[in-house]
Formats: sequence, structure tokens, C-alpha cells
Amino acid sequence: MSMNLVVLLYLIASVCFIQALKGLSHPTTSIRGNVFGMTGMAIAVLTTAALIVELSGGKAQGMVYVLGGLVVGGGVGAYMAKKVEMTKMPELVAFMHSMIGLAAVCIAVAVVAEPWAFGIAAHGEPIPGGNRIELALGAFIGAVTFSGSVIAFGKLSGKYKFRLFQGAPVTFAGQHKLNLLLGLATAFFIFGFWHSQSWMDIVLVIALGFILGVLIIIPIGGADMPVVVSMLNSYSGWAAAGIGFSLNNSMLIIAGSLVGSSGAILSYIMCKAMNRSFISVILGGFGGEAGAVASGGVQRTAKSGSADDVAFILGNAETVVIVPGYGLAVARAQHAVKELAEKLTHKGITVKYAIHPVAGRMPGHMNVLLAEAEVPYDQVFEMEDINGEFGQADVAIVLGANDVVNPLALQKGSPIYGMPILEAYKAKTVIVNKRSMAAGYAGLDNELFYMDKTMMVFGDAKKVVEDITKAVE
Ligand code: NDP
Repeated sequence: MSMNLVVLLYLIASVCFIQALKGLSHPTTSIRGNVFGMTGMAIAVLTTAALIVELSGGKAQGMVYVLGGLVVGGGVGAYMAKKVEMTKMPELVAFMHSMIGLAAVCIAVAVVAEPWAFGIAAHGEPIPGGNRIELALGAFIGAVTFSGSVIAFGKLSGKYKFRLFQGAPVTFAGQHKLNLLLGLATAFFIFGFWHSQSWMDIVLVIALGFILGVLIIIPIGGADMPVVVSMLNSYSGWAAAGIGFSLNNSMLIIAGSLVGSSGAILSYIMCKAMNRSFISVILGGFGGEAGAVASGGVQRTAKSGSADDVAFILGNAETVVIVPGYGLAVARAQHAVKELAEKLTHKGITVKYAIHPVAGRMPGHMNVLLAEAEVPYDQVFEMEDINGEFGQADVAIVLGANDVVNPLALQKGSPIYGMPILEAYKAKTVIVNKRSMAAGYAGLDNELFYMDKTMMVFGDAKKVVEDITKAVE
């Protein structure tokens, strides 16, 4: 296999990855995007495998292990992806990021042990200085990604008793100073590795990476978790790119940079959607205020009604906006909602869905759910396109959503002040379905539930929506 052919195949794979990102930017093209991504990855893996065989003079040393790894890793990945519930997707994503980080660390260790096996130094010769820096950086970012993703996994799953896995932020005095100190120490040992290529330096770089990954993620909690997920996505890409540079592998550099930059752009978009500073996210330890309840301890009552009451209100409506949230995903009510919307549309009522960028537990969660139920895309609107319409809507139906419609975000001094919300409170009548008066992910009470025009309908979203659909004449 000539080097020109390898470069050409890597180029084709890179174009596939770019097409994959483009396709994934909209639900209508997302399947095509996934096909491009899988094709690109297949080309990249097969080309690299052929290259290994070629470089080892046709002996394909260790190829059995590579193939074994592909079969086991691919099999486990496919099984997990097939089995995972929609509400558990963010944990799966965090788990995958941790694996990428760990892979970067393992590759770095292997390269330091036997650089000649990777073709970056002759047998017995030291690793070139530039490659040492790239290796140390890749290993460090990989270590941060690994331990940070493990903490994010624990926080997202919310079922472990371990304090660091709790949703509430873990903060202590001098946290940022300690991070800075550890960051400087890392830079010192990276310099040391560049200077002397000693095992002690690279081991310390990796160990500090593991520690910093934990320290950066533990102070983040509450409503800021989505940004963490996309930020770690970005880190995992940069770790791969760093290792790609040290191995002189253009495919790894391109794929890693694509993941790194797209993750960074997504983090930036999410920060804007939550009114957070991008820089403070990158440095960690923001959003620590979330978790307070804003009712000031005052007991208030909310009006509640039944499915029949909702059906009556809907019977008199001309425009209805449905706001899906995390609870809709938990209840798997997307198909039931689609049925209700169809019934209303047949009665001549205009139905639209309003999607908040961080509704649910991962970016695009609601879009994926609605797409799964085959809700027509022309009924689905992003926050900035639908917010102007709530004022004219007769009814806003909030299904298992809480933080994303919380008017507390408009109140100065509140923990979520400045986070853009879906302005459901502007609709003439608001129906809110959830199981209780419990707070949402950010742990805040919601003013919307106590408004005069709001009617709470308690119960599991699927059951409630099915009952409403039955009750609509
Ligand atoms: P919230 O978590 O704020 O609220 C969801 C509501 O759904 C809860 O109040 C819960 O109330 C209700 N609920 C749960 N189960 C059911 C059910 N079976 N039937 C009916 N209702 C149910 O969700 P939102 O979507 O409004 O907001 C998302 C939040 O998650 C934001 O704070 C966001 O920052 C955060 N987040 C988002 C991520 C993302 O990338 N999109 C990732 C991680 C976090 P009750 O218990 O009373 O039923």
C-alpha cells in the first residue's frame, strides 16, 4: 500500500467525518450524518490496520490483539448503545469520553515504553523533543478527560452515595488556587519530560491529570451539567489530536481536532443558552450556587385539575404550544404526545412544539425523542423561534419540564438568573404536567406553577397525556 493511497484514504475518511458533523446538525439529516461517520471510521480503521501490516513487513505483529480489541470493544459498544435508555444517554456519552481519555493515556505510555514500535524513534534512540511535548500534553488531557468523565458519569446517574458523585457541587476554600498550583506543577513535569524523557516525569504528568480532572468537575453541579458533557467531549478530541501529533498520524489529528473543536463550539452554544461564561466553564467550578429553593420557605398552593379539565380547555383553543422536558423522556410519552397533537390538529387547532436547548439531560434530547415518535419537523421550533409566539398562544402544555420554563431565571439574584427560558408563562392558559410539586434538576421552586392561569395535572406524563387524548372529543 503506497503512502499516497494511505493519505488519499485518510482524506476520504476526513471528508466523511465533516459530512457526519454537518448531517448531525439537523434531525432530518442526522441518519445520513451517522452513516457518513460510520463509513469514515471504517475507512480510517481498515487503512490503519493495512498500514500496520505493511510497516511490520507483512508479519502483522500484534494484529490479533488489534482485531480482538476491535471485536470486543465494538461488540460491547454496540450492545450498550442498543440497550441504553434515552434518559441514560448522557451517562453513556460520559462513559465513552472516559474511555477515549484512558485510551490516550495508554497509547502515550506504550509510546514512551517502545517508541520504535510506533516508528517515531529508531531502536534505542530517544523520542524527538517535539514528540515528547505532544505525548505529554496528549497524556495529560487524556487523564483529565478520563477522571473528569468518571465524575460526570457519577453525577449524571445520580444513584451513587459517594459524595463526589452527588449532583450538589463540592467546593472548598482555595480550590482555584490548588488547581492553579497543580496546573503549574504539570507544566513543570511536562518540561521535565521534554528535557530528559524520564518515566517519573510522565507518570507524574498523568497522575496530576487524573487529580485535576476530578478537581475541575466536582465543583460543577445543578443546571450546569450539560456544558460539562460537551466540554469533556471537546477534551477527549484534543487528547486524541495530541496523541495523533506525537504518532505523526494525520487521521488521528484531523478526527481529534474535529471532535475537539465541535465540542468546544457546542459548549459555547450551551453556555450562551444558560447564560454562563465560557472561560469559567473551561476552568471549572462555576454554577455552585444552584440548589437553593427560592420560595423563602413560604407554603403556597397551586391549582390542580384533571385530564377532563384539560380536554375542555383544549376544546376552546386555537393555538397550543407543547413544551417537552426531561419528565417526558422518563415517561416515554413521546408517542402519546404525538397522538394527542394529531387529534388536536384534526380538530383545526394549531399545535407547535417548543424546544429549549438544554431541555432533558443532553443536548438535542427533546429533538431526538420527538423524531423517534415521527413528529413532523415543521411543528418543532427552537427557543428563539417560538418565544415570540407564547403571548398569542391560547394554551401552553408543559410536559415533564421544569427548569426550562422557570420564570425565576428573570429574577435578579436567583441562581439561574439570565438563563434564557421558554416563555410559557406568557400563554393565556398554562397546563403543567408532572408527578408532584418537586423541584427540577436545578433544585429550584418554580413560580410558573403558582400563577393564576396555571393548572397542574399530576401524574405520569404518558398516562396523563393518554387520558387527555381520550377525553378530547
Ligand atoms: P427538569 O429536570 O428541570 O424537570 C423535569 C421535571 O419532570 C421534574 O420536575 C419532574 O417532576 C418531572 N417528571 C419526572 N418524571 C416524570 C414523569 N414520569 N411524568 C411527568 N413528569 C415527570 O427538566 P427540564 O427538561 O425542564 O430541564 C432540564 C434540566 O436538566 C436543566 O436544568 C438542565 O440544565 C439540566 N441538564 C440538561 C442537560 C442537557 O444537556 N440538556 C444535561 C444535564 C442536565 P416530578 O418529580 O414532580 O414528576
